[in-house]
Amino acid sequence: MAIPALELIGLRTEFRIRGAWHAAVRDVSLRLERDETLALVGESGCGKSVTALSVMGLVQPPTGRVAAGRILLDGQDLAALDGAALEALRGDRMAMIFQEPMTSLNPVMTVGDQVAESLRIHRGLSRAAALERAGALFEEVKIPSAVQRLREYPHQFSGGMRQRVMIAMALACEPAVLLADEPTTALDVTIQAQVLGLLADLRERHGMAVLFITHNLGVVAQIADRVAVMYAGEIVEQGPVGAIFARPLHPYTRALFAAVPRIDLPGQALSAIGGRVPALDAMPKGCRFAPRCPLAQAGCERPQVLAEAGPGHAARCHLATGEFALHA
Ligand code: SF4
Repeated sequence: MAIPALELIGLRTEFRIRGAWHAAVRDVSLRLERDETLALVGESGCGKSVTALSVMGLVQPPTGRVAAGRILLDGQDLAALDGAALEALRGDRMAMIFQEPMTSLNPVMTVGDQVAESLRIHRGLSRAAALERAGALFEEVKIPSAVQRLREYPHQFSGGMRQRVMIAMALACEPAVLLADEPTTALDVTIQAQVLGLLADLRERHGMAVLFITHNLGVVAQIADRVAVMYAGEIVEQGPVGAIFARPLHPYTRALFAAVPRIDLPGQALSAIGGRVPALDAMPKGCRFAPRCPLAQAGCERPQVLAEAGPGHAARCHLATGEFALHA
């Protein structure tokens, strides 16, 4: 089997709350193949961004730590690297796009210099050569008057154009893996469609693997090859996008689909998932979705594992995997 671009094996990331460590991400295993887009889906607070930040080495003591598991980039274990070696990979072989570009860009530095910076650091280019390449990147992400706009500051750009600057910055060193954390959430739908189209096009041209974090199932349908659904720090369902959309198995995935407004159903009552994601220091025993699950029953308090429920399709629920039928 080919080595995946990115593989997480049993990842556990913890944060310290009132002197005790609590897992925000627990036993997460994912494979991201080359040239593939994997969507990581779930409500806010489910651990999606923490998973991406763990991969980037941005969860740091004393408040957070990667407590267990392995993160393999092209088969290379990132835990074995020291700070300088990890720094050399960040922005080079792996890059991240954040949700809100205005808070990610430096407001007192021109956008051209910000994009050129990673080329100067990782590729050793002179400022002039790096700026020339930054201009080409701006053209690639379809920023009009690309070369002239290199000299402008982030506040002179619209939200959609700032996100294009972030994409240009992430692509500067042609990463093998791109982590996109809700890159279109802050944009209106027209600009969102343009940015999604641009990302799909760039992925194809650069042959990148993309981990796309979102809570928007419409975006997932547009961009993903496979989907991993996350709840309360765990993957609860994983499979090809077609299988998940045709037959969601986990009650949480089904609840997410039920909450999507349907334009073809006028008068439809909007469905919400009752309750909220449990706090890190108050996780239920057994199935973490049990307090909100309409199908919860005796046995759900047993530990749940992510088990095969169809070809390439796995779920963390006794009902979805038929385990209740076997053990009842
Ligand atoms: Fe619901 Fe039980 Fe399945 Fe958890 S294991 S999702 S509580 S049916």
